[in-house]
Amino acid sequence: MLFIRNNIWLAFYVFLLAGFAAFIFILMKTHESIREDVRLEQENLTRITSNSVTASLRQYETLLDILGQELLHEDNYLDREKSIQEIDKLLTASLTAYNFFLIDFDGNIVVTNSLSQDKRESSLNLLQNPKTKESFNLTLDSDAAVIGRTYFSYWENALIIPIRKTIRDKNGQPLFIVSLTINIEKGLPFFSNTIEHSADYSVFIYRERDRYFQVAPKRLINDPAVYEHQFSEERIQESIDYVEKAYDTSFETIKDKQIITTHVTGKFNDDSQSMMSNFYIKEFQLWVGVERDTHVIRQKFFQAATNLVLLFFFAYAVIFWLFRVISSNEKKKEELLTFRATHDFLTNLPNRYFLDNYFSKLEEQDSYHLLFVDMDNFKSANDNFGHDYGDQVLIEITRRLKLSTQDRECLVARYSGDEFVVVAFNLSSFEAERLAEAILEDISKPYLMSGNRLILSASIGISHCPTDASSFEEVKRLSDFALYEAKHNKNCYTVFHEELKKRYLDDLSLENKLREAIKNEEIYVVFQPQVSSEDLLTGLESLVRWNNKDFGPIPPNRFIPIAENSGLMPELGRYIIRKSLDEASKFTTSNCSISINVSIKQFFSDGFFEYFLEQVDQSQIDKNRLKIEITESLFIQDLDYVLGMINQFKAEGISVSLDDFGTGYSSLSLLKNLPIDELKIDKSFVDDIVEDKDARLLLQGIIDIAHKMGITIVAEGVETLEQKQILDTLGCEVFQGYYFYKPLPIKDIISALK
Ligand code: C2E
Ligand code: CA
Ligand code: CA
Repeated sequence: MLFIRNNIWLAFYVFLLAGFAAFIFILMKTHESIREDVRLEQENLTRITSNSVTASLRQYETLLDILGQELLHEDNYLDREKSIQEIDKLLTASLTAYNFFLIDFDGNIVVTNSLSQDKRESSLNLLQNPKTKESFNLTLDSDAAVIGRTYFSYWENALIIPIRKTIRDKNGQPLFIVSLTINIEKGLPFFSNTIEHSADYSVFIYRERDRYFQVAPKRLINDPAVYEHQFSEERIQESIDYVEKAYDTSFETIKDKQIITTHVTGKFNDDSQSMMSNFYIKEFQLWVGVERDTHVIRQKFFQAATNLVLLFFFAYAVIFWLFRVISSNEKKKEELLTFRATHDFLTNLPNRYFLDNYFSKLEEQDSYHLLFVDMDNFKSANDNFGHDYGDQVLIEITRRLKLSTQDRECLVARYSGDEFVVVAFNLSSFEAERLAEAILEDISKPYLMSGNRLILSASIGISHCPTDASSFEEVKRLSDFALYEAKHNKNCYTVFHEELKKRYLDDLSLENKLREAIKNEEIYVVFQPQVSSEDLLTGLESLVRWNNKDFGPIPPNRFIPIAENSGLMPELGRYIIRKSLDEASKFTTSNCSISINVSIKQFFSDGFFEYFLEQVDQSQIDKNRLKIEITESLFIQDLDYVLGMINQFKAEGISVSLDDFGTGYSSLSLLKNLPIDELKIDKSFVDDIVEDKDARLLLQGIIDIAHKMGITIVAEGVETLEQKQILDTLGCEVFQGYYFYKPLPIKDIISALK
């Protein structure tokens, strides 16, 4: 999951990088296309301007032709007055834009319009003036109109472009020269309009022939000095070289085919860069130039780029948001998975992985009590009512645990099946014990679910960090020792103390010894005789003994629970049954009964009944002589199963005896429902009856009920004659105790009875 989540962000960054590359690419393309647009626009303007200039000039040439024809007519040109008349006639159309002259071959202006006659500059001779000389000579040699250099006319007080044409007779002999002067500002209307309206364009016309401006750019247009400036040949050559290279063709072709060329160049009279378009008007040998500062491209590009940047950011904001949504969904999924991995599915409580992880992060000096809560008889809930019911009970237990701990700073976790861990922070030992009591009380309340009523209890082991241990692992282990101790009594809590650890470890080593002991046959049985009120032998109870070479004799009260808790009991039980029957079979002299103690784990172990019968058959002891001794604790287990087993034994003729009556939660009502043959009154009861009248009365009641049900009463641990006599009067039938016999090896009993 983390992998996916990291990769989502990796994907995002890759996406971002790719987007950025695309963005740069688009920017470059945009720049290119803006440049292209600007170029096309500029070339368009160049073309339109060139066309209009050409059209104007052609128009002027036509006017010159018309004038020539009029003056030729009837040799008007020879008549000064008529010539003036003709010129005036033509001028009526637009006097301001231009003027006409008639010039002789010596360069003298002979005639002009009537209004301008007086203003004529007498000194002006076109052949003598160096500015006009060349073009005038050219006019003489040419059939076409020739445009002269732009000059400032004091006479007209304006910058003027002259166009001259030699008029010839039918044989081609030159007769006279007509000239037309155009006011630079007014004479080229479209051109001036273009200049007016294209603020950031520089439009100009310059002369191919002598590299002078014909019409200077707007900012310089009225400066006569500009028209005296000849472009340097090198600079023009530079441009030619550049254009030839860029267009991959010769300059001649460009001129000939009238290709509009555009190139970036340093601005005339300025340091900045500009884009320059040129068009050659072949007819008049003029170049039309349109120039625009490249700043325009930058400006347009900047605008487009700003929009792109905004778009890019907006798009990425959206994408970022999308990725975040995906990532946070992944994170939620991941959290859910982590929750699932660290929490119990059924109860939603943190599980043991959570605990381990949680505590590995805690500081060593953190103070907490660890309460190991283990259900005492949870198995019966599952066995009696099914697993669904068991699950319900677990949920209810969880609810109660939370309830009992809600006022404290506690963490409740499910450790395994029916084991819970409560970690209580910052409590005194006293408070921790009160908490354990509260938990026990809450847990032992009846569970009323799905129409069933169930009583459960728990055992709790408590230890403290950092008093007992400093690591969670260790604290847990110590609580477990305490729990082990609490389990002996059940429905109680035990606080860890060093002694427990010792006992636990002793138990552990005893357990190991016990495994060996069964193999090495260190274990044997003795028999304690039971007698009638007449002191006659009626039965023998088999009692197990273990004599270890290191520990010496170990009492069954100590090692039977160890065998039960370590899973050794079924094996040990089988061993005892075999030994007891084997030994008892040696006792052939009498008809007395043989009782064998059967513990819970043994009773529930697989094949117990079958094994018992098999051994009985082998020993050839009469089944009617045999009794099994069971304890009340059996009946809080799966009652149906227990009753079934009891009835199987009884069906085989084997009697069932209820041992230790009066110690546990013995109840008279239990007695009434059990198919038992014998009741053994516990020694603790027997001990009391001499002194305690109430105990006597209670016992009397029990014996009466038992008798009504045909149950035989056996008194255990009878140590005095007085005890025997009282028990006798209360109705006891069988007596067992040191007063009569101690448990003895079978051979001693045999020889004693001889
Ligand atoms: P229990 O079945 O109630 O056995 C009677 C215990 O009381 C025996 O202790 C016996 O020695 C002792 N006892 C009998 N008369 C007197 C008396 O007058 N005074 C005193 N102070 N004690 C007397 P033991 O043999 O130590 O057995 C203790 C318990 O161990 C038994 O209690 C029984 O619960 C268990 N046990 C013993 N042998 C076996 C066995 O073979 N199988 C199983 N499952 N449990 C056994
Ligand atoms: Ca017994
Ligand atoms: Ca007993």
